[in-house]
Amino acid sequence: MNRSAHVLLTILACAIYSMVLTQPLMAAEWQATQGDVIRVQLLDEGGAKPTLRCFGKAWPVMATGDEHWQGWVGVDLRQKPGSYPIVWQNHKHRVRQQLNVLKGTFRISQITVAKKMAVFDKPTLARIRSEVKALRATYVMPVDATPPIRMASMPVRGIISTPFGAQRYVNGEPRSPHSGLDIAAPAGSPIHVPLDGRVLLVADMYLNGNTVVIGHGNGLVSVYSHMQSCNVHQGDWVKAGDLLGKVGSSGRATGPHLHWGIRFNNARINPDSLLPHAN
Ligand SMILES: [Zn+2]
Repeated sequence: MNRSAHVLLTILACAIYSMVLTQPLMAAEWQATQGDVIRVQLLDEGGAKPTLRCFGKAWPVMATGDEHWQGWVGVDLRQKPGSYPIVWQNHKHRVRQQLNVLKGTFRISQITVAKKMAVFDKPTLARIRSEVKALRATYVMPVDATPPIRMASMPVRGIISTPFGAQRYVNGEPRSPHSGLDIAAPAGSPIHVPLDGRVLLVADMYLNGNTVVIGHGNGLVSVYSHMQSCNVHQGDWVKAGDLLGKVGSSGRATGPHLHWGIRFNNARINPDSLLPHAN
């Protein structure tokens, strides 16, 4: 599934001087899997900054330093498989290509937890709902930063205990698909910030336990849950490599692990697609 995250989509828009033509030359595999982030390039000598649109949203675009542009598009975990237009536009060009979204192959994950972590009384349900609301609000908070759209490394050393996209069953009941990676590691293992950003939320949540949300700018947000302890405060600016906290099993967890989730323009993204091996 992550192979397609490696895909480099290239649009060559060759403007040959004044009078003649604008002939876009396109090359690539125009496909991605649910949860992938794909990189697209526009080679446009001397062009003004273009916009990039897909799935009804604008996506970030950066100059590559040689008058060319690159942009990133995230495919939500539950984006319906099919063909979607990707459109680059500036004052001169409008270049359009179809992106083929493929269904991911996600496994099933069954967990068994104490009843109070699966069936909630009224006050607990109200607490969970307000926590989910606060968490969701962070996914669309603007952050004035523009680090590259990639993670320097995994936030913790460990093994993947539940992969991205797994269909969750809690005590036999189907729940939302798993929107992050679970990394199992001994309790107390250090968690490091994988990309510069600003701490948008630090909270002790009923289901997610001790949780930190970091906004990285450009619509990129990362979430860290079930921590034993947090080393940062809301509003802090953090750098890649800073100590974020320690691995624990707070909230609804069957053992010590870090839940690491990523939202990009509010799409649920597989963190693996932003790690160095995927770029
Ligand atoms: Zn998880």
